[in-house]
Amino acid sequence: MNKPVEVIVVGAGLAGCEAAWYLAAHGVKVKLYEVKSVKKNPAQKIDGFAELVCSNSLRGRDLTQGVGLLKEELKLLGSLVMEAALATEVPAGGALAVDRDLFSQYITNKIRSLDNIEIIENEFREIDPDQLTIVATGPLTSGSLLASLTALVGTEFSYFSDASAPIVAADSIDYQKAYFTSRYGKGNMEDYLNCPMDKVEYEAFYSKLISAEGAEKHLEEEKEKYFEGCMPIEELARRGIKTLLFGPLKPVGLGLGDSRPYGVVQLRAENQEKSMYNLVGFQTGLTFSEQRELISLIPGLESAEILRYGVIHRNTFINSPMVLNRYGFLNNYNNVFVAGQISGVEGYLESAASGLYVGWQVLRKIKDLSFLDFPQETMLASMFRYITSSVNKKGKLEPMNANFGLLPLLSENIRDKKEKKLAMGKASLVALKDFIGEVNG
Ligand SMILES: Cc1cc2nc3c(=O)[nH]c(=O)nc-3n(C[C@H](O)[C@H](O)[C@H](O)COP(=O)(O)OP(=O)(O)OC[C@H]3O[C@@H](n4cnc5c(N)ncnc54)[C@H](O)[C@@H]3O)c2cc1C
Repeated sequence: MNKPVEVIVVGAGLAGCEAAWYLAAHGVKVKLYEVKSVKKNPAQKIDGFAELVCSNSLRGRDLTQGVGLLKEELKLLGSLVMEAALATEVPAGGALAVDRDLFSQYITNKIRSLDNIEIIENEFREIDPDQLTIVATGPLTSGSLLASLTALVGTEFSYFSDASAPIVAADSIDYQKAYFTSRYGKGNMEDYLNCPMDKVEYEAFYSKLISAEGAEKHLEEEKEKYFEGCMPIEELARRGIKTLLFGPLKPVGLGLGDSRPYGVVQLRAENQEKSMYNLVGFQTGLTFSEQRELISLIPGLESAEILRYGVIHRNTFINSPMVLNRYGFLNNYNNVFVAGQISGVEGYLESAASGLYVGWQVLRKIKDLSFLDFPQETMLASMFRYITSSVNKKGKLEPMNANFGLLPLLSENIRDKKEKKLAMGKASLVALKDFIGEVNG
């Protein structure tokens, strides 16, 4: 390294921890700011770093899924988040889900174990454009920092609303009615607990859902924008009585043959002890009393103890195509990097990937080396290309999860969709391995 440099990383979430860990592991002195032990946002519950505020699932692990490919890329790049996830995983069929407390503890311990990371448990309020800084403060970035960022990027901000799902106590579930099986037999049969409904039960549930307090609020707020993958259940329900039966409550692939239920609410273990279960796809912003009533209408959950209620929050992000370049720093301020959800990526893994990507770029800057152009066939490079160049008709970025549509087309024409994705995934990993070999000499 040519000169001793200190990097400020703001936010010990998924992106901030990846960036801080990568830089510190490469000998860089990092000052990591995290405000949550002093002041938590409404979605946060614990003091530990890298808190998963909603689902405990990091989604699919198959190479033919966008996020599955991203996982493999992250492993090659030395991701702390992937290391922690594999060490703390809980059974979840084809998905990678974790015990969120152990996951956070794992990452917190790793970060605290490095002498060259100084942790400052306080709010970081103002960005100094002359100081090398990575802003990784997530979708709920606090007000004063948002104001400081606004001073640098002008009005180029956007938002959408996001929601989290309730969690219930395992010992309050009626196992005479709820049964274990995973959809299409993927993974372990005991990974998912299913609460089946007949038509009458479903209709009663649906009618409560669309008339519940909180659902009306969404009806009025037509302008509220939700991220499709995290749509509140009451919002989905208003699209029609059968929408949920093709979405989170779909009864297919559950191995019950002709006696298949009319609808099924699925529950996935929240922790390794399986003492808590998350209602899959049940994100909601209904009032707590309405959530209690609604959940009591689900067979098997009539007396369920709700350990955490669902909530809705606004996600803020910068309009990256206008203000961020493909190496992750602001066009007009080359010391200020932005990573994670606030840069316009969407999802846990995507945020972690963005933090790692920016960490790699900042290390190059510190070493006075040129920035890295990751192979364009990788999900990582494709995500960064997307958030820094794609706008809708209104000139705004529309965040999306990692997906194969972001990748450049293969030169060969493969008709079978799954085969095609597999070929793209393999090509990405080969290119990334070669690239890492070249960069690391
Ligand atoms: C309610 C809700 C539910 C969600 N559900 C899901 C889901 O189920 N699946 C999914 O993939 N994604 C979900 N997301 C998106 C999720 O937030 C991101 O995927 C991910 O956590 C973002 O990672 P990040 O590192 O960018 O930010 P975060 O993980 O939010 O980390 C940012 C950190 O910065 C800290 N911070 C903020 N401001 C300051 C400051 N001024 N000074 C110091 N520290 C600060 C925060 O305390 C926080 O610890 C959800 C988001 C919300 C808000």
